[in-house]
Amino acid sequence: MESIKTNGLILSARNYGEANRMVSIFTADLGIISAPSFGARGRKKSLGSSTREFSWCELILSESTKDRFRIEDSLVREGFFPLSEDIVKLAAAVYFSDLAQNAIGVNNPDKEVLSLLLNTLYAMCYNGVSCETAKMVYELRLASLVGYRPATDACAVCGSLENLEYFDIDCQGVLCANCRRPASFKIAGAPMEALNYILSADSKKIFSFCTDKKTTSILSDLSEKYICRQLEHSFRSLDYYNKLR
Ligand SMILES: [Zn+2]
Repeated sequence: MESIKTNGLILSARNYGEANRMVSIFTADLGIISAPSFGARGRKKSLGSSTREFSWCELILSESTKDRFRIEDSLVREGFFPLSEDIVKLAAAVYFSDLAQNAIGVNNPDKEVLSLLLNTLYAMCYNGVSCETAKMVYELRLASLVGYRPATDACAVCGSLENLEYFDIDCQGVLCANCRRPASFKIAGAPMEALNYILSADSKKIFSFCTDKKTTSILSDLSEKYICRQLEHSFRSLDYYNKLR
């Protein structure tokens, strides 16, 4: 039985049997996997706490058969504890996790998506980034990473470089004033600047910008509709987050 050392973020965990947990983990090397942790609730060692949702852990996994793993040992490196103290942040984190799972599927390693998810949780927990800002940045960057980067350099309909004042979900990018449609978002000014920053910033600087509440509100509405349309999926966790915020 081969053992694998990797790092992973616990996305969800549910108890089963007397002392076991089935855990969904976003690992750096294997992508998103499901793995049982036998005795996780009964042991004195750290396996119990390290199978808590949104723990970032060092893991020792064993592969029993192809693509089937179990947790042999784990050590928490970052617990993201502020999530457990704020129900809105926790709801946002669950939605981010659902988006990642839908966007890349299982057993599909993607270190950039993992890094984006970790950076977003960190910004929300420790850097004072609001849930709404975290959400719009995460949605837009995730869309870009999985092949749905919106076109922002020129009008998506006529190619014009001028009067780019609108964003259209169906056209997957910005539109000029002449090509705007009734459903297009007006994003002239600050929202357009913020959109361009978010899409083009270095991955370590995606949260290094400021916007006012109105801009955040416009972009957050736009970004959630955009990614749900591209993934052709609706998320109950998003509905729940929107009820709470
Ligand atoms: Zn146009």
